Amino acid sequence: MGGLLIAIDGPAGSGKSSVARAVAEWLGVADLNTGALYRAVALLALRDGLDLDDGIALARAAAGIELSPDGARTQGVEIPEDELRTPEVSAAASKVSAHPEVRQVLLDVQRRAAAEARERGGGVVEGRDIGTVVLPDADLKIFLSAAPEERARRRAVQSGREEEFDRIREAMKVRDRQDSEREVSPLKPAHDAVVLDTTELDLDEVVSRVLELARELQQWT
Ligand code: C5P
Repeated sequence: MGGLLIAIDGPAGSGKSSVARAVAEWLGVADLNTGALYRAVALLALRDGLDLDDGIALARAAAGIELSPDGARTQGVEIPEDELRTPEVSAAASKVSAHPEVRQVLLDVQRRAAAEARERGGGVVEGRDIGTVVLPDADLKIFLSAAPEERARRRAVQSGREEEFDRIREAMKVRDRQDSEREVSPLKPAHDAVVLDTTELDLDEVVSRVLELARELQQWT
């Protein structure tokens, strides 16, 4: 049967990646960051000059991408994290992710990676639609939220570009809107997710809460 799968969803800057990494480390399980897949498609598209409105061409580019706890790989080669985290790639990833053809290809990639993690003892899978679409049977579903100003502040501090706070906040607003309003798999909490507002919480407090929920669950399994 394998280990637990924990889904963590939420908007940019809600703390997903940091929380997922810490929880996975505490539990000794895999940490799968699914945003890296959409970022990888965006990077390939920008590099090869693909039209960001052409869902079929983008889905073809997505077909060679794989996900592991170390990140996204294309043709077996890991894509460096810093190339995936530029503002251009963030903006393009949000556009790329609205295409149903792309989501369909990446759905299989994510489910395969999660099944492998489960076999090896469990995993924390983070993204936008993990609890709703990718892993509706996840053992525990967390939805992290935080006030937009706070999320932009975190992102600015994290990227060392505090002087660009206004630009980061505006770019985040556009991305939030695109991610929440798209027709396929919009960002929203699963009906059975535990929603945590992290605006007033620090990382340790959120991690403790998620670990508490995971341990409660482990007692029953
Ligand atoms: O989580 P991260 O900010 O790295 O994700 C980049 C983009 O990928 C998001 O803005 C979103 O559009 C898309 N994404 C998604 N579904 C996921 C993970 C990410 O649509 N499960």
